[in-house]
Parts: sequence; C-alpha cells; structure tokens
Amino acid sequence: MSAGKINVQAENIFPIIKKFLYSDQEIFLRELVSNAVDACQKLKTLGVLGEAEADENSLLVDLKVDKKKKTITISDNGIGMNAEEVEKYIAQIAFSGAEEFVQKYKDQAQGIIGHFGLGFYSAFMVADKVEVISLSHKGGDAAHWICEGNPEYTLKKGKRDQRGTDIILHISDEAKDYLEEYKIRELLNKYAKFLPVAIKFGTKEIEVDDPKGKKDKEGKVKQIKKTVDDIINNPTPAWTKKPSDLKDENYKSFYRELYPMTFEDPLFHIHLNVDYPFNLTGVLYFPKLKGKIDMQRNKIQLYCNQVFVTDSVEGIVPEFLTLLHGVIDSPDIPLNVSRSYLQSDQNVKKISAHITKKVASKLEELFKKDRKAFEEKWDDIQVFIEYGMLTDEKFYDKCASFYLFKAEDGKYYTSEEYKEKIKASQTNKDGNIVFLYSNDFTLQHGLIDAAKKRDYSVVLFDTPTASHFIGKLEQKLEKTKFTRIDGDTLDKLIEKEEAIPSKLSEDDKKTLQPIIEEVIDKEKFTVQFQSLSEKERPAVVVMPEFMRRMKEMSAVGGGGMMGMGNMPESYNLVVNENHPIIGKMLSEKDTEKKNSIAKQVADLALLSQNLLQGEALTSFIDRSLELID
Ligand code: ADP
Repeated sequence: MSAGKINVQAENIFPIIKKFLYSDQEIFLRELVSNAVDACQKLKTLGVLGEAEADENSLLVDLKVDKKKKTITISDNGIGMNAEEVEKYIAQIAFSGAEEFVQKYKDQAQGIIGHFGLGFYSAFMVADKVEVISLSHKGGDAAHWICEGNPEYTLKKGKRDQRGTDIILHISDEAKDYLEEYKIRELLNKYAKFLPVAIKFGTKEIEVDDPKGKKDKEGKVKQIKKTVDDIINNPTPAWTKKPSDLKDENYKSFYRELYPMTFEDPLFHIHLNVDYPFNLTGVLYFPKLKGKIDMQRNKIQLYCNQVFVTDSVEGIVPEFLTLLHGVIDSPDIPLNVSRSYLQSDQNVKKISAHITKKVASKLEELFKKDRKAFEEKWDDIQVFIEYGMLTDEKFYDKCASFYLFKAEDGKYYTSEEYKEKIKASQTNKDGNIVFLYSNDFTLQHGLIDAAKKRDYSVVLFDTPTASHFIGKLEQKLEKTKFTRIDGDTLDKLIEKEEAIPSKLSEDDKKTLQPIIEEVIDKEKFTVQFQSLSEKERPAVVVMPEFMRRMKEMSAVGGGGMMGMGNMPESYNLVVNENHPIIGKMLSEKDTEKKNSIAKQVADLALLSQNLLQGEALTSFIDRSLELID
C-alpha cells in the first residue's frame, strides 16, 4: 500500500468543486459514464489493431445503486488501468485538469459549466469518498485507489479478476437523492440514451417463447417470463448510420425515440453528414408548425460523440432553425465556452451556414421532385420558411423560387406563376402588379367575393410573420405592391386609369359630411368620400394598409416601432358617392329619417367588418326591426 498526495496548488479544490458546481451536480453521472464508455471504445480500437483481445459484443457499462451502503458503482469492462496508470491519470492529470478548470471559471457564470467536462473529479460533487478498482487489459495486479475528498489518497493492491474498472461513489448525505433508482434512470435517459456502448441498469422481465416449445390451447407457443439485463440506451441511433441504410420508417421511429411524448409524425427529415472542413452528423426533422410556434422551439438536442450536451442550441444554429427538431452531433463545437463566444466562433459559423444550406436544398428538392406533396405540407412549413427568409439573405435567395402563395381558388403558385396569373387584371395605373391578400379567408369572405367578381385573385397571409414578410417581398419583388383586401375600397386597392364620374357635387358632400359624422365615433372613424361604382356598398370601413401593418409589426416586435401596438385604432369610413341610398339620404327632407338612413348605412359598414358590438349592435337590431315594421 502506498499513500500519496495530490499535487495541487489549491488545497481547497474539493470544497470549490462541491459548492460552486452545485447547480449542475447531475453531470457527474454523464462524466463517469462517458469515461467508462471511452474505456470500452479504447479497448475496441486496440482490438481492431490486434493489440488486445476484445469481443466487441461483450463490452458493457454496468450501473448499480446500493441504497443501504449508500453507493453508486459504475463498472466497465474496458481497457482498465494498472496502479501506475491510476496514479498518473486519476491522481495527477485529472486533478490538474480539475484545478485548472476551477481556477479559470470560478468567477464565471454557471451557464457554461454543464458543457465543460470536469471529468472524473465531478464525482466529488456528490460523494465524500471515491474508490477506483481497476485491472488493466495488459494484466498484472489490480489497483485500488481511495480518496476521501481531500488531497491525500491511498493506493493499494485491489481485488478484481476481470479486465476493467469499478468507480465506487460513497454518496454524501446532501446528495442522497441520487440513491433513488428513478433519479439515476432519469439521468441516464437524459445523458446516456445514445452512448455507443451498451449501458446496463438492473434487470427487467420480458416475455419470450417457451424454450421447450410448449403450446397453449390455441396452439400458439407459450410465453414465459425471462429476466434480462436492462440496457437503457440505443448504441446505434439513426444519425450514426448511413442514410442509404435507413428507410422513412426508421427515421420516424427514431423521432419517437427522441420525443416519446410527441404523437404527431414529423413532415420530413434531413440527414446531415459532413466530415470536412468540420465533423457533423445529425438528423433534423420538420415538425408541423401551424399555430404553436413557441411550444415547438428548442427541441434540437446537441451531442458530442453521442454524449448528450444540451437541448438549447441557441447561438449554435440560426434562430429560425431552432424551430426544427432532431439531433446534431459534432465534436467540433466548442462546448467549454460561453454562449456569446460561441456565436463568433468560426467553426460554429461554418456549421450554421452548412445546416442552413442543407435545409434550403432539401426544401428545393422536395418542391422539384414532388410538387403536390410539397404543396400538401406548405401550410405547415410556411411560417418556418418565412422566418428563415426574413432573417437570412442566403436562405431567402434559395427559397424565393419555390415560396408558395395560396390563392382563394385553393391553388398554390410561385411568385412567377402568380404574377403571370394576375398581371392582366391586377396591374395598376403606375404599372405595378398588385397582390391582394387576406389574413382570413372566412372572415373576409364578403370582400373576397366582391374581388372575384372583378376577376381579381386574393392570396392568404395568416402567419405571425406575415406583415414583416410582406414588407420583405415588396423590397425584393420588382414592380409589385401588396395590399390587404380590407385596406381600401376595391377601386382604390388597384387604381386604374379610368375614373368614375361622381354624382355628388362638392356642396352635396359638405352637406352630407356632418350628418354622417354625427352617427359615428369621430375619434375612431374619418369620413371619406369616393366616387365608386354604383354596385359597391353605400359605405365601407377600411383600415389603411400602412397604419395596419405598422401596428401588426410592432405587435410581433419590429425594430424601432415600440409602442405602436398601443396606438388607438383608426379607420376610414368611405362613403360611395354614386350609391342610390346616398342619393336618397341627400334628398330626404325629414331630418329624423335622414339621420336614420345615415345611422343604418354606417352601422352596416361597421357590421361587415365585425366592428359593431355591444349596445351599438343591440340598437342596430332594434332599429332594423322597426324599419321592417
Ligand atoms: P478526460 O476523460 O477528459 O480525459 P477525466 O478526468 O474524466 O478526464 O479522466 C482522466 C483520465 O483517467 C482519462 O483520460 C482516462 O485515461 C482515465 N480514466 C478515467 N476513467 C476511466 C475508466 N473507467 N477506465 C479507464 N480509464 C479511465
């Protein structure tokens, strides 16, 4: 037996490890299990080189919790260590690594710690005593190392006849929660679910065919219970395989493995596989996004050689990509740094750009290969594509040719196709093609119907990104304007050369103006006269495009428009100078009747925009009934 002293400057390294890593305590399990996995992988490599005897299939990491003895034991049958190696790797190198870490990061934010492998010494976050019993694959004596959370340790001959290592943690009272089986299972499920070596945690019962082939009454082979190792991980998850070896169904079942609580299938997947100039593998999925964007965010899991690191990939991939689901695995993403540093890291930038490019190419491929299937998915991916096109110029350029407009006829058009379709009827007097759009085909049914009668077409924009995205399209598409169907009267939405002569003189308008103003809320509505077709309604309510867009954009957070969301609503009440009812109102001698026509006309305009409510609506109904009487 020998006693040693760990060669560190900071005598108080243990209290520091315990105290300041408290919030990320649970990573001890990740660190120790990945060390055990590494030891197995190293043996496998030596086996391949012919330097060790390794039966790949028997490699195993075994976890045991003993509540009575208050221990957690992590065993592996990997390369093992002899006394000299324990001394070197555990007592000296690992310690100096831990010390360096503590020195470097003790003043920094907690956030980074989970990403930094404190390695072996993270064991002292939860244990007051740690034992290592190891037998090297090279043979010799087993080594037994004991350390009680201070710089002194003992190293003696150990008892172990199988190659490999046991790490025995004597769990401290403060950390006794980790002696609960469910707790360990939960952590294994989080950190070890896809580690590349089988990880056993206890046993489980399964049903198998009776080995003697006994049959039941129905002639089926009897099922008997059998106890087998409970292997908690899948050592070969989809992203580690070749795309050519996987079918669509395999990708779907991997999705369910990743998100057991999600019942909806993803729309499609992208298999990432890069080895130059950086290493990156992964599978990304497009979820159905409609209407529940925030719930879907931040589900991508980041792995480093199959070890789970985090499920928050902000700063690593562009923000719009955080709407995707799946896995990214890269040993080239530096994890021991802060988030702000990550964003400026060259490798991370390249990885981001690569993923963005792959996603755009996948979309393009889907569009080109099977347009019908692409259209079927469109409503679910539209918001994602708009978000990406808004925030990433390269993504905009790649997607512009297959971004789809959904028209009132139920068909989908690319911008080129749509322009071709509407060019003849929807070009205004300045030569701009006017895209009419609606944010709700059902609510704006009346307006759309009126537009159709003029041979106009209307497209749907109902995503939360719509206002911003329309602004973007106006910058990008030449000689194109967008106006919402309720932004003005149809005549004004697409202004043509020929003006309709008015039936009202300037004096007539002056007479009518105060009468109409009397029956509306002047704070909210501005009366406007327009010479429209007789077939149009006598009065309509419109909210000017510019005002509405500003309001909407500020509501979803647009630069420099703070507070606009709270600005009072303001509308125009457009009076149709040529409608017979307006003529009747003008010539009506009875003031009471005149006012009642004005009120009825204004209320109808409000009603068609869903703006007539409460008391105003009740008195409108009463008044209408009186009119029928
Ligand atoms: P790291 O794993 O980052 O090198 P650690 O502190 O976790 O740092 O471990 C230090 C070293 O101890 C490892 O590099 C390895 O050589 C050795 N080691 C740790 N655990 C085991 C194990 N279960 N089997 C064999 N060697 C181990």
